[in-house]
Amino acid sequence: MPFKKEIDEIGPLKVIQLFFPVSNFHAIVVVDNTALGPSIGGVRVSPDVTISEVKRLARTMTMKNSIAGIPHGGGKAAIITDPLSPEKENCFRLFARALRDLHEYIPGPDMGSNEECMAWIHDETGRAVGLPEELGGLPLDELGATGLGLAECAEVASAHAGFEIAGARVVIQGFGSVGKAAARHLFNKGAVIVSVSDTKGCIYNPDGIDVIKLIETKQETGSVIHYQPATVKACNEIFAIPCDIIVPAATPDVISKSNMNEIKARLIVQGANIPVTTEAEEFLHGKGILSIPDFIANAGGVIMSAMEYAGKSAKEAFVLIQERIIKNTGLILEKAGRDRIYPRDAANLIAKKRILAAMQYKRDL
Ligand code: NAD
Repeated sequence: MPFKKEIDEIGPLKVIQLFFPVSNFHAIVVVDNTALGPSIGGVRVSPDVTISEVKRLARTMTMKNSIAGIPHGGGKAAIITDPLSPEKENCFRLFARALRDLHEYIPGPDMGSNEECMAWIHDETGRAVGLPEELGGLPLDELGATGLGLAECAEVASAHAGFEIAGARVVIQGFGSVGKAAARHLFNKGAVIVSVSDTKGCIYNPDGIDVIKLIETKQETGSVIHYQPATVKACNEIFAIPCDIIVPAATPDVISKSNMNEIKARLIVQGANIPVTTEAEEFLHGKGILSIPDFIANAGGVIMSAMEYAGKSAKEAFVLIQERIIKNTGLILEKAGRDRIYPRDAANLIAKKRILAAMQYKRDL
């Protein structure tokens, strides 16, 4: 049974491929697990996302939602097209109509999608999170929910790694919604942002970057590379920059066998989903570099989405994000230390226990 290899005791429950021949685009939906409630996960828009990537991302959501203690399972979707396509609204509306009856999946924003896209889905299906404020949404990117959680996580983890967040030198790969908000919140905690990158390149200033000015520069010119004073380097040079903390906040698998040797940080706080390969994560731990798994560090966004779905306010969401992320970062680091295991394994064990316990009450669909 070759199919058996692709599933485990958690899921995925459903893997759906959609093809829209007239509009000529593909989409993928993975509902990984719904034992804790209907799955929540973002809709990624990219021309080169694969089924296996969507499956891994959906599993990450299952673990993230479990350990975050929200009443949701994990899922993920991808619309395989250019995020700047003029046909974007049409793609979203067709995609939404195709999953109108897939009640076990609640779409949210992800790379290449935003509140407007969620409004289109909501209009077609009545079901989406990360909605515009006018539709009762909590604008999580504008509010910086994930960045706030990353900064809280970094503060707990840096203390665990033996240094203070105030004065820590930080490198952020990717300066979109997550990277910007992480920079802002880390800056407010006294950290010094020394390098930031986007698709155009990387900037470095060992004396520190003015985050507010950088946000303005990115807004006005479209890229961080126009910020001054700073040295401009190539995108992939960012991981070799000497620093205390790296926050990868762009795409999957950016720290891997090819560059893991270059890392000079003491701590990696995973802002993006699956930004560090398993091999690299284990190698870095061997070198004494602490790496906080994505589904612990970047849970701020989904916690806010779950609060939106439950009709709560942004203020209530912020309190919960801080409380859960501080608690979970401490919890996994203590367990990892006590049981002499990787932080990711500690986090997986805690998340999985809750899922398996909830699965006992489920029957097959
Ligand atoms: P975004 O599209 O707003 O920003 C992504 C940024 O990464 C852009 O600035 C882009 O230029 C940059 N980028 C892309 N490829 C790059 C590369 N190779 N080198 C340097 N920069 C690169 O996306 P986002 O919402 O900020 O999400 C970033 C990551 O965080 C994604 O992996 C997403 O799944 C994950 N995430 C997002 C949230 C959220 O609340 N938005 C929550 C959890 C996880």
